[in-house]
Amino acid sequence: MSSHPNVRAIQDLPVASRATLAAGRLWATSAAPYLAHAVLALRPVVVTESVAGSDLSSFPVDRTWNLYIDPEILAQVSPAEVGFWHLHQVAHLLRRHDRRCPLASTGSGGAAGRTEPEQWWNQACDAEADDDLIPDLLARGLAVPARAVMPADLAEPAGQLAETYFRRQAQSVRDLPAQVADCGSGVDGHPRPWETGSAALSELECSLLSADTARRILEGSRNRGDTPGGWQRWATELLNPTIDWRQQLASAVRRGLAVAAGRVDYTATTGPPGGPPPSQMWCCRPCAARFRGSPSSWTPAAASAT
Ligand SMILES: [Zn+2]
Repeated sequence: MSSHPNVRAIQDLPVASRATLAAGRLWATSAAPYLAHAVLALRPVVVTESVAGSDLSSFPVDRTWNLYIDPEILAQVSPAEVGFWHLHQVAHLLRRHDRRCPLASTGSGGAAGRTEPEQWWNQACDAEADDDLIPDLLARGLAVPARAVMPADLAEPAGQLAETYFRRQAQSVRDLPAQVADCGSGVDGHPRPWETGSAALSELECSLLSADTARRILEGSRNRGDTPGGWQRWATELLNPTIDWRQQLASAVRRGLAVAAGRVDYTATTGPPGGPPPSQMWCCRPCAARFRGSPSSWTPAAASAT
């Protein structure tokens, strides 16, 4: 990893910064033990000054579980803040905000190049993520960064999905806050200039990690009963989706059969006012082409005679 031109080895960081990073990761596992396994799966990547000017103050992630660190920012923050952003980014990754993003990449990348909708999407995802993290952390007497986003900060009710917050913000006349956190491609799937392209986890490993985290959350909620409700709902939905795949498959097969049948199943339909009687007007349902006369007399040319 350290061979990448934008990456420094963690061992090259000052001792104090290494201690802050280690303490921050431990803070996160202690503050939210139901996410500890996922937090420790994040791969810290220390970037160099060559991406200076980019906003890495929220310790952004890519979709493969790399967590990017600006050494200048790490030197200025507390272990608690480092820990909070680890939990926050894990929330983005587990909830697959990158896949859920409704926006196409503009290709501009970077904090300065993000479009306004991309920043609203980041805000909406932050509200969904922090909504389940912050009340629990505050109840434990732990501090959270002032830049964290709660649904109330968007004048929205708690407990909604990012898609809902995003849609409602897009319909509002509110202005974007002066500084919107950039949580990386882990929140929208759009590459950033500081990302290395070296995957920390494969897509399969991401899925297995998510399933394992969900299992641990449900076990913890049964044994200790102190897991936030939003995380319990996420875990339940992931492991026991309300969408029955058997039902979905059967429905897809039925749709496929209907389309295939429609290609050859010409049925009589009502003719237009003043047109031929219904028995002489036929319709091909999938393509809505109409034919006159008897099916036995149809030729390719007849198909245009609607
Ligand atoms: Zn975020």
